[in-house]
Amino acid sequence: MPKHKPIKLPDKIKIGWRYVNITREAPTFTNDANEEYGSFHGRKNTLNLHPELKGIQLANTICHEFDHIAFDDLSLNAETKSMKLLSEDLEELIANGRANHFVSICLDNKWFLPFLQQLIHGEDK
Ligand SMILES: [Zn+2]
Repeated sequence: MPKHKPIKLPDKIKIGWRYVNITREAPTFTNDANEEYGSFHGRKNTLNLHPELKGIQLANTICHEFDHIAFDDLSLNAETKSMKLLSEDLEELIANGRANHFVSICLDNKWFLPFLQQLIHGEDK
């Protein structure tokens, strides 16, 4: 029996100065080789997570997409007339690496997320 009541994924999350809408829609493309688990659309202000994702895959995809949102919000993927700060390939590598690293730390150290929660929000909150 689980110790905690499952927390339902909300339909929006506050990130920085605005709320980002969260949707759970299957991608519409038919190419099976292109497995899209999550995507962030800045103009639509929407984070989509594949409806079949759950557990650690959902956690990893959320962390991955948060990195894309950070790149976008902080203009880390901006382009000037002469250069682009970060190619899409490089952004993808960084998002993959950071998300995998963070989730693996959480997986191997069950105390870590509650500890962060307590540090950030205070005891008993
Ligand atoms: Zn990505």
